[in-house]
Amino acid sequence: MNTEEYIGKAESALLHTYNRYPVVLDRGEGVYLYDVNGKKYLDFGAGIAVFALGYHYKGLDEAVKNQVDKLIHTSNLFYNVPALEAAEKLKKAAGMDRVFFTNSGTEAIEGAIKLARKYAWNKDHGHDHEIIAMKHSFHGRSMGALSVTGNDHYQEPFKPMIGGIKFAEFNNLDSVKALVSGKTCAIIMETLQGEGGIYQAEESFIKGVRKICDENDILLILDEIQCGMGRTGTMFCFQQYGIKPDIMTVAKALGCGVPIGAFACTEKAASLEPGDHGTTYGGNPLVCAAASKVLDIFQEDNILDHVREIGKYLYEKLEEVKDKNDKVIAHRGLGLMQGLEVSCPPSVVINKALNKGLILISAGTNVIRFVPPLIIEKEHVDEMIEILNACLNEE
Ligand SMILES: *Cc1c(COP(=O)(O)O)cnc(C)c1O
Repeated sequence: MNTEEYIGKAESALLHTYNRYPVVLDRGEGVYLYDVNGKKYLDFGAGIAVFALGYHYKGLDEAVKNQVDKLIHTSNLFYNVPALEAAEKLKKAAGMDRVFFTNSGTEAIEGAIKLARKYAWNKDHGHDHEIIAMKHSFHGRSMGALSVTGNDHYQEPFKPMIGGIKFAEFNNLDSVKALVSGKTCAIIMETLQGEGGIYQAEESFIKGVRKICDENDILLILDEIQCGMGRTGTMFCFQQYGIKPDIMTVAKALGCGVPIGAFACTEKAASLEPGDHGTTYGGNPLVCAAASKVLDIFQEDNILDHVREIGKYLYEKLEEVKDKNDKVIAHRGLGLMQGLEVSCPPSVVINKALNKGLILISAGTNVIRFVPPLIIEKEHVDEMIEILNACLNEE
């Protein structure tokens, strides 16, 4: 079958919820992907910030394969060893006390919302608790996660949302203060907004929100699904601010390709009890064996040092692109999570790059997003910059 035939079959069988690029990917190696025709692509999207360790990182495939041969699933009616190992490692990496494994980021957000509501319910048995979320945020597509996602376009056809959600301006502390009431049970935000266009929290903002939460016994939920797992140069982005959330969510790179997410919390916020929450697949031995190995690799191979070094190099190179090019309006980001705001539609540049063998993705309506595997080297940055410049200059 050729590419057209594959695409025809996919479009007649799958629900049309994505406008996909006309490429059928077949295999990966390191930081490169290959399509079914054997065409090679340098990958600066990493499956949307998932493949932190690139394709076929030493030891990771083996860890997953070994677990396949042992036991894939147990249900949560029993204990399994990979889950407790992964939970201990995640707890340590995040400075949290308790972990619940999910199958996705969205489900991690659902769990975080339930934790916060139960925490407040334990205090007064009320049903009118409120959550403050941020405009231009993204937390997922299920009804709860969508309800705290500050994007009208995503919400509109699916209203009514869950109740009690209010939206503040990200990086505007007064706008948060104005919404706090005796009913507020949580404030939720991404430490570094991804889908919304690569906006990091200002230090005064995130510390101010922490203070509001401390003073009013409100839980701070930090969504680290995209910016966590080393992407910004620390294991979790909040660790750069010297603050800690009460609840955090993680997913994307946690399993480096196998579907696993988690929400974690401090002992104080651990409000859920038997019967309150559950999942059939969540935390099964297969995905936990992957996450456990990923967390080991981060430690043993000093992935964070590498991100800091290459992130700085990428920053310098993208600054040069910005300085040389009228179409680039702004450059933002941290570590290996950066974005260029452009005056043309990002898709124009992204499609040209794809033709030239480079995978880029967009964020928001006007940002080209750079979220490569964390193992890229300077030569890969140089290769990307050369293609990017060519695409920007072709206009
Ligand atoms: C991707 C993402 C989610 C949703 O995760 P899924 O695994 O797609 O359900 C939630 N929050 C943030 C910040 C994300 O980037």
